[in-house]
Amino acid sequence: MVYEVSYELLGKIFVAALLIIAAVFAMGLSLAYIVFKKKKLIFPKFILFVLDSFHAMSKKAVSLLGGNEFMIEIVGIEIRNKLSKNKFAKTPYSERIIILPQCLRKLECPAKMSSVDGLKCIGCGQCKVAKIAKKAKELGYKDTIVVPGGGFIKRIIKKYKPEAILGVACPHEVHGGMAQLAKTGVVLQGIILKYGGCVETKVDLRELYGMMSLSSSPD
Ligand code: SF4
Repeated sequence: MVYEVSYELLGKIFVAALLIIAAVFAMGLSLAYIVFKKKKLIFPKFILFVLDSFHAMSKKAVSLLGGNEFMIEIVGIEIRNKLSKNKFAKTPYSERIIILPQCLRKLECPAKMSSVDGLKCIGCGQCKVAKIAKKAKELGYKDTIVVPGGGFIKRIIKKYKPEAILGVACPHEVHGGMAQLAKTGVVLQGIILKYGGCVETKVDLRELYGMMSLSSSPD
């Protein structure tokens, strides 16, 4: 009899736990949708917790509901950007680096790829990489690194020891990189490519320069 009561109780606790998880998930996803549509941040840390804890489930739910395939990543990036914006602005330019994806370059790019530093742009001017690197240099950034993928990031952090990173990539890469580095203490800002597709992609220079120039103290 004692065991029967215990099993019944366990069953109730299990069902109650499932209902609470479902409610938390539904609330997180609803708030994420508000961020996506209205750009309003309500309980941003709660949304991040839900999206990070249930990433695959969130993607599936958005897909079943016919939403934007990158909504989860876009919302995650937007929230992380807003939460870190002030810290990024306070970080001296000299302690920041920019990480660009190699897909920004032209197919005829003459630069060589290094397994340590990524693509060594020679400034031929066929794509925007040289222009962005020049702007970063003028501002006083530590460096601009062009990488073939997210696997380079840890190596770059080890080498450059930046206090802040501004990363440009597709939604999946920016979101993954920000989530991966969230606990490292490095201040992060992310920008999504304007036109993706892995070859000769584009970034919104106005948006990028605006973010690069963020500053709340004379450098
Ligand atoms: S500007 Fe740099 S990255 Fe772009 S195509 Fe020329 S060498 Fe390659």
